[in-house]
Amino acid sequence: MRGVGAAIGGVRSLAVAVALGLLACAPRDQGAPDTTGTRELSAQGWIDVTATLDPARTPVYEGDAPLKFDFLKDMRRGDNLTLSVYSLGAHSGTHIDAPMHFVANGAPIDLVALDPLIGAARVIDIPDSVRAIDATELNRHDWRSAKRVLFRTRSTLRGWMDSPQFHRDFAYIAPDAAQLLADAGVLLVGVDYISAEQFGAPAPRTHQILLGRRIPIVEGLDLRPVQAGDYDVIVLPLKVAGHEGAPARAILRKRTGNQRSLTP
Ligand SMILES: [Zn+2]
Repeated sequence: MRGVGAAIGGVRSLAVAVALGLLACAPRDQGAPDTTGTRELSAQGWIDVTATLDPARTPVYEGDAPLKFDFLKDMRRGDNLTLSVYSLGAHSGTHIDAPMHFVANGAPIDLVALDPLIGAARVIDIPDSVRAIDATELNRHDWRSAKRVLFRTRSTLRGWMDSPQFHRDFAYIAPDAAQLLADAGVLLVGVDYISAEQFGAPAPRTHQILLGRRIPIVEGLDLRPVQAGDYDVIVLPLKVAGHEGAPARAILRKRTGNQRSLTP
């Protein structure tokens, strides 16, 4: 059993770690000019587009497992530490679909390469009235030069990734648009609700087309903090062995002319 000693030990090592962190970070995070050709990475400019996982706020796809968050120990109730457990579907909140989701012998999430998950991305605004992002709708937008495409749709405009009610009428990527994106060599496709596929679609063609080309799909982005435009994206799923998807943290940073960007 974890007792007071463990808790105090934990606090002590945390304090040491924080002190070391301050020492390590203090002189460098002041935006010193880059004279060496290398640049210190910092949180500056990065925008969190991850939906918060919260049973009171996270929509769950119809028929999928509910989110359950419990505290086994809770200092707010007089326990000597706080310790919690949660269970949730692999496709909860902001998450990534690996090929294994709809492709026989497709790669599981722990074997998805980093390349599609880090680099240049274009956020494309889809009007509130549009439910089907089909080839015609896609071609109304400038997407051809984009390596990664993230659709900002009615779901973002309505705050649906921050509302526990599941909506069937979310905007989805139609198979003909998925085919265009795949044929163009797009590395990553993202949407702002918990599925890229039309609700009730007779077959999961959009998933099959994208995942069949090993294009991971990031679903459930909360794109309210960003506008349409060019960004760098980092979206990293939990490394769960042998499963078909996992929740992820997703961040975007505006690409500007004078700022060195993540490549490609
Ligand atoms: Zn999914």
